[in-house]
Amino acid sequence: NLTDRLSQLVKTMRGQARITESNVQEMLREVRMALLEADVALPVVRDFIARVKDKALGQEVVGSLNPGQVLVSVVHKELAATMGEGVADINLAAQPPAVILMAGLQGAGKTTTTAKLAKHLIEKRKKKVLTVSADVYRPAAIEQLKTVTRQAGAEWFASTPEQKPHDIAVAAIDYAKRHYFDVLLVDTAGRLAIDEALMAEIRDLHGVLNPVETLFVVDAMQGQDAVNTAKAFKEALPLTGVILTKLDGDSRGGAALSVRQITGAPIKFAGVSEKIDGLEVFDAERHAGRVLGMGDIVALVEEVTKGVDLAAAEKLAGKLKSGSGFDLNDFLAQISQMKKMGGLSSLMDKLPAQMTAKAGAADMDNAERDMKRMEGILSAMTAKERANPKLLLDGKSKASRKKRIAQGAGVQVQEVNRVLNQYDQMAGMMKKMSGGGMMKMMKKLGG
Ligand code: GDP
Ligand code: MG
Repeated sequence: NLTDRLSQLVKTMRGQARITESNVQEMLREVRMALLEADVALPVVRDFIARVKDKALGQEVVGSLNPGQVLVSVVHKELAATMGEGVADINLAAQPPAVILMAGLQGAGKTTTTAKLAKHLIEKRKKKVLTVSADVYRPAAIEQLKTVTRQAGAEWFASTPEQKPHDIAVAAIDYAKRHYFDVLLVDTAGRLAIDEALMAEIRDLHGVLNPVETLFVVDAMQGQDAVNTAKAFKEALPLTGVILTKLDGDSRGGAALSVRQITGAPIKFAGVSEKIDGLEVFDAERHAGRVLGMGDIVALVEEVTKGVDLAAAEKLAGKLKSGSGFDLNDFLAQISQMKKMGGLSSLMDKLPAQMTAKAGAADMDNAERDMKRMEGILSAMTAKERANPKLLLDGKSKASRKKRIAQGAGVQVQEVNRVLNQYDQMAGMMKKMSGGGMMKMMKKLGG
């Protein structure tokens, strides 16, 4: 309920200004769960949590955020940094044709992505692009590349299932050179699982082609299995980049973290639909939010600092210092402050699902309604009453005053009493805080 939330707010303000060994443990457990739920592989999660713990310890807690929220923000940043480190487009710094080798399991999306990349390089980089298929095991695979290459507006180099992948590579390079192609994209065969023959073949292709980019194409829906696949391909080939496909699916995309960690190669693009234009530059920041299953924590941080009125906070701090106390005007100001931040439910929307799961929608609605009703009751008081809560708490005419307020706010007298009780509790807690500490806290609140 609201009392809990307000006292929580105060506890937060007064208490933990840092993330410590003791408060970090429980929160990290939540993060660990979020990552596992997103299908990040366990060893990768362990490594990651250890790194986050190092970074989080001693981190200052800004504004009215609590340590949990700050930790999530640290996690978010670390996730984005781990998966991102700047934007990495396709490297074409090679004697033309710049060769791009596509590697990955069958069904990962290599053929589709080859065409998507061709389109990208034609449209965004103004390159003359040739594609070729070295997938000689399934005749349909060569035809498939032909079809999607047409859609991309690139040129397709014919190959047949009777040829050896090695010979196809040599012929394609020769053709690309003679026809002045800037880029040659080589689609390869994948198997349903890693096998040694496949790895030997792609290693051989790599040797002949000497590609400037060796891209590992991996299905985001693969989850935990992505780790083993990534390991096998990393051992076989010097990977220069990763393309994460099927991010339009409903996976949380934890594979991104695993694959990035295991291959050490940057995630360059993300596949976001079956269509030829369904390729996006990988946005690590945004993806970090998805992996954690949270709304935009950064927006929350900004909103919290924006919503706090520094002048009002300083006035309150000054009052406390001079001993004039926390009155009902201050209480009303606090409630308005929370409303300015977009209300409770808007704040909750910005927190990770894991953190808000306990507070159901009904709870939130109740809290919002409570807050509105409290505001109504406080507004029905006269300015004099708000400045002198004693008039309502133990004044001679307190009963008739409360009755008048209840009528004005359209509530029962018990409700007025409830608000006064809540105020009283809060004022008590406020009194316990030292003036100096409060001032510092308020300064911080103002950003
Ligand atoms: P390959 O065996 O690695 O060459 O994989 P394909 O390119 O043939 O793709 C396998 C399936 O995944 C096809 O049905 C594609 O349409 C589909 N696919 C590939 N990339 C994406 C993507 O980013 N999103 C969605 N939804 N489907 C994709
Ligand atoms: Mg294919």
